[in-house]
Amino acid sequence: METLTNTKSNEKATMAQPEKFVYFFAAGEAEGNASMKNTLGGKGANLAEMTAIGLPVPPGFTISTDICTHFYKEGGRLPEWVRPKVIEALQKVENKIGKKFGDIKNPLLVSVRSGARASMPGMMDTILNLGLNDQTVEGLAQSSNNPRFAWDSYRRFIQMYSDVVMGMNSSLLEVTLEDMKADKGIHNDTDLTTDDLKKLVKKFKDMVQQMTGQSFPNDPFEQLWGSISAVFRSWNTPRAITYRDLHGIPAEWGTAVNVQSMVFGNLGDDSATGVAFTRNPSTGERKFYGEYLINAQGEDVVAGIRTPQPISTLQEVMPAPYKDLETIYQKLESYFKDMQDIEFTIEKNKLWMLQTRNGKRTAKAALQIACDMIDEKMITEEEAILRIDPASLDQLLHPTLDPKAQKVELAKGLPASPGGVCGQIVFTPEDAVEMKEKGHKVILVRVETSPEDIAGMVAAQGILTSRGGMTSHAAVVARGMGKCCVAGCADIEVNYNTETFKAKGYILKKGDVITLDGSTGEVFLGEVKTIEPKLDGTFNRLMTMADKVRRMNVRANADTPKDAQTARDFGAQGIGLCRTEHMFFGADRIDAVREMIIAETRPEREKALTKLLPMQREDFYQLFKIMDGYPVTIRLLDPPLHEFVPHTDAEINELAKRINYDAARLKNKIQSLHEFNPMLGHRGCRLAVTFPEIYQMQSRAIAEAAAQMVKEGKKLVPEIMIPLIATAKELEMLRAQTIEAVEKVQKEKGVKFDYLVGTMIELPRAAVTAHEIAKQADFFSFGTNDLTQTTLGLSRDDSSRFLGSYVSQGIFAKDPFVSIDQVGVGTLVKTGVDLGRQTKGNLKVGVCGEHGGDPDSIEFFENVNLDYVSCSPFRVPIARLAAARATLLRKKKK
Ligand code: PEP
Ligand code: MG
Repeated sequence: METLTNTKSNEKATMAQPEKFVYFFAAGEAEGNASMKNTLGGKGANLAEMTAIGLPVPPGFTISTDICTHFYKEGGRLPEWVRPKVIEALQKVENKIGKKFGDIKNPLLVSVRSGARASMPGMMDTILNLGLNDQTVEGLAQSSNNPRFAWDSYRRFIQMYSDVVMGMNSSLLEVTLEDMKADKGIHNDTDLTTDDLKKLVKKFKDMVQQMTGQSFPNDPFEQLWGSISAVFRSWNTPRAITYRDLHGIPAEWGTAVNVQSMVFGNLGDDSATGVAFTRNPSTGERKFYGEYLINAQGEDVVAGIRTPQPISTLQEVMPAPYKDLETIYQKLESYFKDMQDIEFTIEKNKLWMLQTRNGKRTAKAALQIACDMIDEKMITEEEAILRIDPASLDQLLHPTLDPKAQKVELAKGLPASPGGVCGQIVFTPEDAVEMKEKGHKVILVRVETSPEDIAGMVAAQGILTSRGGMTSHAAVVARGMGKCCVAGCADIEVNYNTETFKAKGYILKKGDVITLDGSTGEVFLGEVKTIEPKLDGTFNRLMTMADKVRRMNVRANADTPKDAQTARDFGAQGIGLCRTEHMFFGADRIDAVREMIIAETRPEREKALTKLLPMQREDFYQLFKIMDGYPVTIRLLDPPLHEFVPHTDAEINELAKRINYDAARLKNKIQSLHEFNPMLGHRGCRLAVTFPEIYQMQSRAIAEAAAQMVKEGKKLVPEIMIPLIATAKELEMLRAQTIEAVEKVQKEKGVKFDYLVGTMIELPRAAVTAHEIAKQADFFSFGTNDLTQTTLGLSRDDSSRFLGSYVSQGIFAKDPFVSIDQVGVGTLVKTGVDLGRQTKGNLKVGVCGEHGGDPDSIEFFENVNLDYVSCSPFRVPIARLAAARATLLRKKKK
């Protein structure tokens, strides 16, 4: 299947019955190893590896991920040919252990667990104690000489199996267990006697029969096939799908199934079970971190019914197994050269390892661990760079919601711009400004935003829209400002008339408080506590390492001095895109912009433009000054003019009064600007073809600002950029006009400065005729937002409504407005670069669409030889790290 974005290739793509698909592991004979994650899943591969390096791992086998694909191809059934191989492997386990599966005297019990290539903690299913029935339970009671343990294992098995395999609501059985404890006045499960457990088992089985209409299976093999199938099925549960979507794990990968002989942490007070991290996953501190429970099985630790003990106390309670655990965790960490997340069981004072994997960690911990491991000479700087997920740095750059806080979720939209903010809701940009002035924190709620909302967006803590995608105006602008934004939140129903929105049965009115989590897209009722970001030494150290390595430059998209300063503070090497239209919305200038738009004659238009000129000059001067010799790419006006004018009668009448214009005539004029498809209409360079004075004014303002800088002895590199070019002819004409305007200023002011005139490549025609366009351009900057929109014929503002279905159904691997469609849009980018450089060998080429801040896209841009990426200021550190990774990965491939 060809999916958009980069499809990660399957290790085995064929659908024929695989030659080998069951991999045995036991002390001294592991058929797999850690490099076989694609086939064995992470858990299976590491179980094999742990066995191979001599660690105590209960014997078992892994059914490969290919079988998951076959399982779904056969309509959710285990293919018949799988069974003999599984039985064969099970017999090998029996021989190792000296017990038989289903044996009524000394039964072998197994666990059945999931394990995908990428770890998906807690997202899929597990069954423990499999192989117990009314006969084998007696055998287990005798062989273990511990009837209580046998019956406890049996009741646990029924609880798990009926839930995971038979689809019964497990809480019903849990309630029965709790009721029994309450009746007996006891607190812990461990206080239940053998007789109690026997009674529970009987009750549980009756309940299963009643609720499911099926009797609980007594045949251990039926239990085994049921469990294996259930684990494969759990690959496609809603929570697994959500997790996969969130982490870009392709649906076709599938999970492996691990069948392993049981070891028991519930055999008494000399037994225990636990989970641990070799370092603190939240802070990165180099300290063994974990929990355990005496006389328990794994799910007790996770379920939180009994409070687990901190691992530090295990040393006193079980000194010998603790000592082994210490040796093993250190061995695992230096073997895998990364922080490990381990699961273990102690059975009668003997330690068994059930899992090891690279532990999930916060960004803060990731940095700390990477830096410490460099100092410990465990990894190199380059390995450290490759290890940290650039996107995770986002967590460090914005205030975030306190993970410990209580929350009531109202709705979920697109995580358009990260951060955690709360405030009172308002529905108009004017209210946002007014409330902010009164000292309130507000969240601007809109159906969608338009450029005229900008002042309200600036005033708001965060923005919530019910429509629009990840590159909608709200999202782009919010990211640019580092402002939290949840966009395309279809769960909310906004009513401007009543100034309310509905969500999950709540009706929220103006002034009510909500909280947004821009990193997850969640919207919460009321105020949720946030925590401020702190950038520490490890962050700067990582950035310095990344800067040493990366080939591409990183610039920022910035339109205001504040954004420009943030960009510099985050290490941007220039401005790659200044969207000048954002400068038109200030209260002091919007009316002049409107006068320019409605002008009917050239002199009228020029008069309005003369008012704007000094303001624009000052804007550009400030940006040049902050960028202090780094290049500043200023894009001339892009959006269609109707975006700048008011649309309601009341607003039009007010404007008419203010600018002393006839209201009816003004209304007519505004109506005449209406376009059915403005994104493909009179915008970008097309505005300048019909109204050359706009670009001429902007070029003059740039040149005058530059001249002032030169006079003050300051360094600058101005780059004037013309948007939405489709033909070389357009650019030829507009470039000549721009140069004329700049040279005129140079002559008037008697100063010379170097400057470039380049273009955006954001239409397919421009990309495929880039050799022609390059003749007229000093540089190219790919506008991949518009290039995606026009190549796919997908509206960047409207498609979020259905793009989710495209991603969940695997048509697109990722939202193409977030991560570049490498096969389609990417090919146009590569073509444009190559053709452009055919004409001009050293043509400077960058990208300034939102993809410039997306790590996967940045890797693509590295590979097609762009000179720089430009992204919103708050993504600059992410882009610096992603560019470094891309350089390293490319070197590795070579
Ligand atoms: C683009 O199209 O990629 C771009 C950067 O321009 P804008 O988002 O302003 O259309
Ligand atoms: Mg564009």
